[in-house]
Amino acid sequence: MLLPLVAILVFAAVGYGTLRLIDMRTFQFFGGLVDRIETDQKVVALTFDDAPTLQVTSVLQTLAQKNVRATFFEIGSAIEKYPQLARAITQAGMQVGNHSYSHQRMALKPFSFYQDEVDKTNRLIRGTGYSGEIMFRPPNGKKLVGLPWYLSQQHIRTIMWDVEPDTFEDTGASNGDANFLVNYTLEHTKPGSIILLHPFCDKVCAADREALPRIIDELEARGYQFVTVSQLLMYAKK
Ligand SMILES: [Zn+2]
Repeated sequence: MLLPLVAILVFAAVGYGTLRLIDMRTFQFFGGLVDRIETDQKVVALTFDDAPTLQVTSVLQTLAQKNVRATFFEIGSAIEKYPQLARAITQAGMQVGNHSYSHQRMALKPFSFYQDEVDKTNRLIRGTGYSGEIMFRPPNGKKLVGLPWYLSQQHIRTIMWDVEPDTFEDTGASNGDANFLVNYTLEHTKPGSIILLHPFCDKVCAADREALPRIIDELEARGYQFVTVSQLLMYAKK
């Protein structure tokens, strides 16, 4: 009677532990990852996931007006759908990262799946004319063993984030409220932060697009400077 109960509890604990590991923003088994850097300098990186979509144009306009360079994590299948917009991101001098080909969960899959997703998207990013380092951000931050192993073999860095105003659990349902996004970001950003926004979907993401110029202005007013993720890593204390 007792033994099955213990077995169930152990299973549940292992299952829960695995889920927690898949989602962790500060740990993975191989190669390490970056969610922010330690620095005394007021530098931060703005990052956007799920590019490109039709909304890229307005985000690039905002960044050009504010003279800010950001990092765009692109989905391979979306690059195939909107090749001109992917090229526009590269031509605007933005940093480009790999956000998988199909935006599926990057855990508990066959090893060849990770290889295909990473390699195909890297080729598509190079096809836009991008020549900088290509870093990787797993869709929804999910990874376990196979993906980190492959990325570490390929010397591809995994980039997470420490400030996510629009969907992060502890904020509750904040989508659709630009004021909330601005205030949350101002409250949580520290020197060396990596800020994640999702400005590229249609209606729900309008709040992110509305918040973007305000986040830039308010953080600059507080003395912050915006850099790409590559530049940010150079500020890390040794
Ligand atoms: Zn995503």
